[in-house]
Parts: sequence; C-alpha cells; structure tokens
Amino acid sequence: MARIKMEVPIVEMDGDEMTRILWKMIKEHLLEPFIELNTEYYDLGLMHRNETNDQVTIDSANAAKKYKVAVKCATITPNAARMTEYDLKEMWKSPNGTIRAILDGTVFRAPIVVKGIEPCVKNWKKPITIARHAYGDVYKNTEMKIPGAGKVELVYTAEDGTQIKELVHQYTGAGVAQGMYNLCGSIESFARSCFNYALDIKQDLWFATKDTISKKYDHTFKDIFQEIFDAEYKEKFDEAGIIYFYTLIDDAVARVMKSEGGCIWACKNYDGDVMSDMVSSAFGSLAMMTSVLVSPEGYYEYEAAHGTVQRHYYKHLKGEETSTNSVATIFAWTGALRKRGEMDGNVELAAFADKLEQAVIQTIEEGKMTKDLALITTMEHPTVLNSEDFIKEIAKKL
Ligand code: NAP
Ligand code: MG
Repeated sequence: MARIKMEVPIVEMDGDEMTRILWKMIKEHLLEPFIELNTEYYDLGLMHRNETNDQVTIDSANAAKKYKVAVKCATITPNAARMTEYDLKEMWKSPNGTIRAILDGTVFRAPIVVKGIEPCVKNWKKPITIARHAYGDVYKNTEMKIPGAGKVELVYTAEDGTQIKELVHQYTGAGVAQGMYNLCGSIESFARSCFNYALDIKQDLWFATKDTISKKYDHTFKDIFQEIFDAEYKEKFDEAGIIYFYTLIDDAVARVMKSEGGCIWACKNYDGDVMSDMVSSAFGSLAMMTSVLVSPEGYYEYEAAHGTVQRHYYKHLKGEETSTNSVATIFAWTGALRKRGEMDGNVELAAFADKLEQAVIQTIEEGKMTKDLALITTMEHPTVLNSEDFIKEIAKKL
C-alpha cells in the first residue's frame, strides 16, 4: 500500500514520562505504516529543555507560527521535586504557558464521546467544548490583607499624570481586597478565536459573564464580543447555519445542564478553569479530553488535556505492565493531521485522520479498552488491554 504523502510538515513537540512512551508507540503502529510522516521535531522532554535553557520550547512555538499546525505531547512542569529528580539548572516555566504566550491563543477543550462511556448528565448526547480565555483576571491579581479601619481605592494614572480614582471600600475593621485587570486586545483575540473555531467546527457559540453585576469589567467582554460579531462574523454564521448568543453565566450553567451538548461555551478565565473540570469529569475521564490552542492568526496546537501520567511511568520503569489510555494523545495527532490536510488541500490526509478516529471509537465500542475506561464503562465484561495492546488493537481495526 502506498503511504500518504505530506508536503508541509507538522511541528512535533515530544514530551515526558508515560506520554512520551505512548507517543512513540502511536507513531510506530498507527501513523508511520500509513503516512510518510513529515514533521519538524522538537524534543520538549525535560532533560532537553534543561540542556537548551528552555530555548527548544521557544523555538518550537516559533516553528508553530511558521507551519501553522503543531502537535504536542504532555510535558512536565517542574516543581521542587523535579528540580532534584532531573538535576535542573532552573525551575523552567510550564511549556504550555510559554507556547501560549508566543501564540496568544485560546484553549478549546472537548470530550471524546463513545458509546459505553456515558456522561453523568444523561441528556448530554454531543460533546461540549469549553473555550477558556487564558489571560488575566484573578490569575494576574494583586491582593491585600486589610489590617483594620481605613479606605481602599483604585487609582489609574495616565502617562500625562492625570488620575481617575474610585473608592473600593471604606473599612471599619479588618478585611481583604483584590485588584485585577484585562486588556481589550486580549479580549478581542479571544473573541476572534472563538468565532473562527465555531465556524471551523460548525457549532453554536455561547458566551456568558456576570455583566449585570460587573457593569464595566464583564460588560466590556460582552460588548467586545458583540461588536466583533456584528462587524465581522454575523453573515458567516448565517451562512454556516450556526448562532452566537450571549447570556448571563448563571443562565448559561442552567441551560447547559438541560442541553444536549454540541456547542462551544466561551468562558472567562476563571469560569473556564472551573467549568472545564466539571465538563470533563461529567463526560467520564480526563484521558478522553482533547485540547487545542487556537491563535487569532489561525495557528493550531493540538494536545491531550491530561498530564504525563507519572504514576504509570514509574510502574513502566520497574518493568511492570501499564494500561494507560492513549486516546487523547491519538486525537491530538488526528486533529493536527486533519488540519494539515485541510490547509494544504490534502484530502487523503484529512480522510486518514477521520478513519483513525473511527478505529479508536469502534475499538472501545467493541469492549476493548484501557483500565481507566473499564472502571467506568456501562458495558458488561469489557476486555482490559495494556498500553501497547490497546494501540495494536486500534491498528488492526484501522
Ligand atoms: P496526570 O498526568 O494527568 O495524571 C493524573 C492521574 O490521572 C493519573 O495518575 C491517572 O490516574 C489518571 N490519568 C491521567 N491521564 C491518564 C491516561 N491517559 N490514562 C490513564 N489514566 C490517566 O497528572 P499528574 O500525575 O498530576 O501530573 C504528572 C505531570 O504532568 C506533572 O509533572 C505535570 O506538570 C504534568 N502535566 C502536564 C500537562 C500538559 O503538558 N498539558 C497537563 C497537566 C499536567 P491513576 O494513577 O489513578 O491511574
Ligand atoms: Mg482547573
């Protein structure tokens, strides 16, 4: 059989621990037999990040700008324990944070839905995608403990020295205060990424904040979305037969519970953090969740939503068998391959991505799965496979 050719490379960002092991198996059994894989390889494994003083992460993000499509393996974000474990020169920053800062994107997370792994919310029939604005708000806050009576004010000083002041509170006793910010430019990028993504996957877009209470801060988010939608996207949405609608965050929560899914829910930073954990656990498992970073310029970086599965890796190192779920990592690859195919008009490549996804879903729906899914499936007597046998089973189906 002739292998599918790729003219333009995908940026391949390799990673750490158990997911690095899965990465190699996926390439060997599911990709290379079918595709003449053309990737520009960057090793984001922690050892290599340390050797290059993290330059490799920056280089890989710049390559993602050049080629527009990247696929990333999960990576270790170093903490104190990792400093000793890997004898690190520095506590390098999270690669995801570094890449996000360079690409300026929005993260879209969606569950992979299969029969037999049923969502806790019984009317959720289709995936719900959470789009999280990954910039500012409470994640970049400044906080104060207020020791006693006195006042707290917000003061803005323009470059020419003129000031605007607002009283936050006149304290009669001890308390707390917090200041936070966001930027119109970042909110605009967020809005465009969401509108583009909705058109891409042809699903309705919801956006919700608490603008009735936060009449300037949240209201600015609402206004920016509406202005950009009316000026740039309304017609395109009409043509695609999808809608954009804004509502209050509490109304969105109530509605989403009663919906059947199949929509994108755009969230401010904090809401997105909380709601993506709710949605992923309600749909079953973090190992069945994909994640894609979409920049306003149209660069795409695909990855799994879970980490490096450290506990399984240590078992693997001891020579013990593991049953680690590779589905989210496989879907990171299919997402990137499909996007490459669409961008280059490579129909065969995009079709291959669809077929590989179908092979994964059919394998699970036939009752062959990894241990994490076997524990939650509604199917009777599932066959539990180890990490490699699960991938080989998918290869047979493919
Ligand atoms: P994790 O790798 O997501 O794993 C946490 C637990 O969830 C695992 O121990 C396992 O449970 C279960 N799990 C997650 N993915 C699974 C899979 N594919 N198949 C089966 N079970 C799965 O989180 P962590 O152990 O807290 O973090 C490990 C490292 O990942 C950390 O160094 C962290 O910095 C990094 N991390 C990276 C990313 C990223 O690159 N995007 C994201 C998050 C974390 P059981 O042990 O009960 O089987
Ligand atoms: Mg969270």
